[in-house]
Order: sequence, then C-alpha cells, then structure tokens
Amino acid sequence: MALDGEHWFSEPFGDEGVAFSLEITDKLHEEQTPYQHIEVYQTKRWGRLLVIDGCVMLTSRDNFTYHEMMSHPALFTHPAPRNVLIIGGGDCGMLREVLKHPGVKRCTQVDIDAGVTRAAEAFFPELCSANDDPRAELRFEDGIQYIKDLPAGSVDVIIVDSTDPVGPAEGLFGEAFFRDVHRALADDGLIVQQSESPILHVDTILRDLHAAMRGAGFTRVVTLQFPVCSYPSGWWSATVAGKGADLTAFREADARAKPFATAYYNAAMHRAALAVPEFCRDLLTDQ
Ligand code: SAM
Repeated sequence: MALDGEHWFSEPFGDEGVAFSLEITDKLHEEQTPYQHIEVYQTKRWGRLLVIDGCVMLTSRDNFTYHEMMSHPALFTHPAPRNVLIIGGGDCGMLREVLKHPGVKRCTQVDIDAGVTRAAEAFFPELCSANDDPRAELRFEDGIQYIKDLPAGSVDVIIVDSTDPVGPAEGLFGEAFFRDVHRALADDGLIVQQSESPILHVDTILRDLHAAMRGAGFTRVVTLQFPVCSYPSGWWSATVAGKGADLTAFREADARAKPFATAYYNAAMHRAALAVPEFCRDLLTDQ
C-alpha cells in the first residue's frame, strides 16, 4: 500500500531500510525557528504528533514510556535528588515527571529552541502541567554552553533529553560535553542521556556514548532499555553514568511506595530495564 504524504506522516530511518508511519488527519502547526523545523499533526489513532526536522519527537499516545523511563530510574537511583537539570526537553514532558518527586527542590530546563516549548504549550498542554511549578525554571539557550558556566558539584541529576546527535544536539554526545557534566555534578551525581535504539545503534551511537562517558571520567555506566513505539525500531534506551556507586542498585522501597502516578514506570520495570540482552553484553559491563 503506497503511503501518500497527504494521509500519512512517515519517518524513514537513514539507511536502515525501515520507516515508521502514522495516519494523519490534519497538520496543526509548522514553523522554521532559527534552530529547527517544527511540525505538529493530528493523527487518526495516536493523538497529536510533534516532529522536529522530520523526526518523531513524541505522540500523545506513547510519550509516557519515554518520559517516565528517562526520569524515574535515575531519580530513584540517586540517594536524594534535589537540584535537577534537564538539557533539551522543550516539550516539557520530562519536567512534569521530575517535579512529581517531592524531594526535588529545583528543576532547570535548558532548551535551545523556545519554539518547541511554544508549540508544546499550544498543542500538548498536558505535558506542560508543571511549567508553573515554583520549583521550575525554563531557560532558552544552548545546553552545551550552559553546563560550562555551572559551579562545580552543583547538580544532583542531569537529564539530557535531546534530539538525535546531529545539528544543535551533536555536541551533547561528545566527551568534551561529558567532562563539563562530570565537573558540574556532585560526587553522587548522575547523568542520564537518551541513547537511541539498542537494535539499531549498539555498535555505533550507544558504543560511542559509553566510551565518551568513560573517557570523561565516569566510572559507572549502565543502559536501560524500554519500548518507545514511535521511535526508530520501537526499542529505545537511556544511559546513566555516575562517579562510583553501583547504578544497578536503586531505592526500590521508595520506588514501590512512590507517591505519584505513572503509566509505565514501577520498581519491577526499573529492574527489568537493567537486564542485558546477549548482543549487548560486551558493551554493558557494569550490569
Ligand atoms: N525525546 C526526543 C528524542 O529522543 O528525540 C527529544 C525531545 S525534545 C523535543 C529534544 C530537544 O532538544 C528539542 O526541543 C531541541 O530544541 C533540544 N536541543 C537540541 N540541541 C540542544 C542544545 N544544544 N541545547 C539545548 N537543547 C537542545
């Protein structure tokens, strides 16, 4: 069946010979910002769709697995996260998850493109429900530069919710950036980074990310895997790095007793996400 662009949005995945398509009923928004091309569609069965530079960022229907698994594992692994930084995350879904944790006293979100947050506020208000939380600070600047200016040891958890490692996000996957992150994090601090697809990227982006994090001085690096149906291959990952603590140990009792609702994350799924498929074993040596 030919998928015509009038009724279907399709994202081909480079030279993988595979694409992901969603049936659409309307284009709601399109904007070229100084940084990216932003589109919002109404889909037939997946709610609304946010696209940046032709890549699916999120749908109303399945963004929960990503936002929950990019935030709660690291926050329940850290002993007592208070000061959290999100780099990227302009759709504000990550901010909403972080601020569900009552112990978090401050969450700064640094996205280079204010256009993304404007689009989220207009078309995904449910993701922006924590934007007015007094603990939230939204900044619109380059996260690569922002991290350089932070005082050493001043952040507990840094979540890098960026686009793929091209364009403005490319520098967010390099060793120089991770050295700046290492300096900005407290001794028990953690970074969590969206680390693409285990099945598509284990020998490229994922392997390079582990090497860059270790080269920057992180001695512990683990990768959690989980479904994101609307991302390339539907199988995604988040990589957590720290300065010494065992990252397969987390506050399971607190996770079981979490004082907030989730739709995917729980202590069992956290534990399951740390399991390592055979084809990844030589990479994921801390698990
Ligand atoms: N979950 C999505 C994914 O995995 O592709 C990412 C969602 S979020 C919309 C990605 C954000 O990263 C965008 O809003 C983009 O503006 C932001 N971004 C890209 N490069 C950046 C940089 N250097 N500093 C800060 N934000 C950046």
